[in-house]
Order: sequence, then C-alpha cells, then structure tokens
Amino acid sequence: MNSSLPTEMRASVLHAAKDVRLETRALPAVEAGQVLVKIAAVGVCGSDVHYFHEGRIGSFIVDAPMILGHESAGTIVAVGAGVAADRIGERVSIEPQRACRRCEQCKRGRYNLCPDMEFYATPPIDGAFAEYAVIEADYAFAIPDTMSFEAAALCEPLSVGIWSNQKAGVGPGSSVLIAGAGPIGIIIAQVARAFGATSIIVSDPVAERREVALRFGATEVIDPIDQDIASLNLGVDAFIDASGAEPAIRAGIFAVAPAGSVVLVGMGADDQRLPVSRIQNLELNVTGVFRYANTWPLAIELASTGAVDLDDLVTSRFDLDGVTEALAAATHPETLKVIVAPGAGTR
Ligand SMILES: [Zn+2]
Ligand SMILES: [Zn+2]
Repeated sequence: MNSSLPTEMRASVLHAAKDVRLETRALPAVEAGQVLVKIAAVGVCGSDVHYFHEGRIGSFIVDAPMILGHESAGTIVAVGAGVAADRIGERVSIEPQRACRRCEQCKRGRYNLCPDMEFYATPPIDGAFAEYAVIEADYAFAIPDTMSFEAAALCEPLSVGIWSNQKAGVGPGSSVLIAGAGPIGIIIAQVARAFGATSIIVSDPVAERREVALRFGATEVIDPIDQDIASLNLGVDAFIDASGAEPAIRAGIFAVAPAGSVVLVGMGADDQRLPVSRIQNLELNVTGVFRYANTWPLAIELASTGAVDLDDLVTSRFDLDGVTEALAAATHPETLKVIVAPGAGTR
C-alpha cells in the first residue's frame, strides 16, 4: 500500500430507509488482484433512490449499513498483489461488479448472470458514495485524458444502453421504438443512433422529456396519452421499454414488425399482462436485460469519440455530505443525471 494514503475516509452510509449518514470509515482493504480507486464522480441511479426510500429492491434487502452508488470513476491510488504498480495514477471508469469467474454462466461469458455476483450498492456490497472504493483490477478501465470523470462514471448507465441495443439487434438502418425518456431511455436512444438506427421513436407522456429526447437522438417523439401507439402500425424492428409501465409495454409489443425484438429494461411491477398471441403469431423475440457484460470498452469508445454525449446529461452536482439532497434531486422531473463528487468539499 501507498504510505501517503490516509487510513480513514468519508463515506455516505445508508442505515435504513431514509437514513443516510456521513461517516468516517477505515479505508477498504485492497486484496490481491484489486485496485484502490480515489473516487472523483458517482452518478445517482434510480436504484439508489429506491434503496434510500424503501430500504430494499425486491428480494435485495438492506439489513446492515451499506454505501450506495454504483456509477463511478476516479484515479487508482494503490494496487493489490499481482497488479502492475504502474497502474497507480491511472484514471479509470469502474465496472462495479465482481463475478465468480468459475460458474457455468461466467464460463459462457454471461457473467452478469453469475449467481455469486457481488455488485456495488447491492446488499451487502458497499458502493462508491465514498472517498475510496476497491474493484477487481480488470474491472477498472483506463479512460482517455480527454474524458471527464463524470462521463467515465456514466459509462455504467451507458452500458445498460449498449446491452439493451445489442439484445434488440439494433444496427445500421434499424427502426426502434423506445418507451420512456428518463435518463436510461435517453441513453438508449443515443446508443441506437450510434449503432446506426435511422428511425428512433421515443414515447413519453411528459412534454419536457420528449424535448430532451429530440436533443439526444430521437428522430420522432410520441405522446402516448395523445396517440394510441398500438394502433399506429409503426412496424419497428425493435421495441425497447425503459418505462416499466404495463400500458407502454403492451402498446410497444403491437408496434413491432414480424420477427422483431422486444427488450424489457424498465423496472415496474413484478407481474404484468402481455399480449401472448401477438408474440406467438409474429414470432417476436422477447427478453429482459440484467445489467450488462463486456460493455465497458465500447462504452468508453462511444463516449470519448462523442458518438454518445454523457457530459450534457449532468443536471446537478453534490458533495458527499449532500447525498440525501442528491437522492431527492434525482427524482425531480427536470433532472437527467445527478453527480456526487466525493473529492469535493472539506478534507
Ligand atoms: Zn445505475
Ligand atoms: Zn460466476
């Protein structure tokens, strides 16, 4: 370990629903094969907000104090055994997961489905609303000097956008319908454009969000309250849902051409009614997405070349002692992405 490092750090710790405290904690221990990252920027995700309000997401329950935040970037300040010391000083984007590398899913390359996955800010694994965090060395990806730490942090939601478009088979000339123009829907639209889709239709009931979608790659927007998407005969190659809302999902399935794809990204009710005969008769491919696998190199490429714009998604910033405010800001309708900057402020 680097002797110039402090022994303690500030961390924002979730104790129970609606109870986040700024605390002093010991620096996390760096195990063999890991790196210690001084965190510069962390994006606030809907899942952080959900854990804060409910203390759980489905079967994942916060029953011991846990640090939230999983969209993070910073600078390597120490390395564990077996990691090249010259990585110290490297600016990195963190892929916030640690798979077992041994199970059937890991061996087949689908490590996001590893049953033993340890993921930042998913109980009991600490996230990155802290001055320092550890990650496996090969899940810390070097970023170009020209890339901001904020953009590097947002390679995490960008990865969801990449994975969703890959699952949907979006490519040059594709037409795609995206339901929901929140941060993830906007990123999905940007990736669709970067992948060469020529018709990118985004639906959202909120006018301001439709405006944002047009700024970030949508070729057309639809107000689903105004127009019945199911009866428009859009015939798109792919429908990607980023809303989680049953009416949007049902309508989207009716907008897909025969043999097209339906990708469910948005998190809504656990059980929903789907038009099964439509799926059968048109041989639609319906799938979900659970995080992502092997997306970081492409995410860094798309963001650093300007094919996808992450910097302009940031609408507000907070210090580590403002995490409660940051989580509140994330729910405002005009918010796209909120950033917590643990390096800022005192100390
Ligand atoms: Zn996220
Ligand atoms: Zn595994």
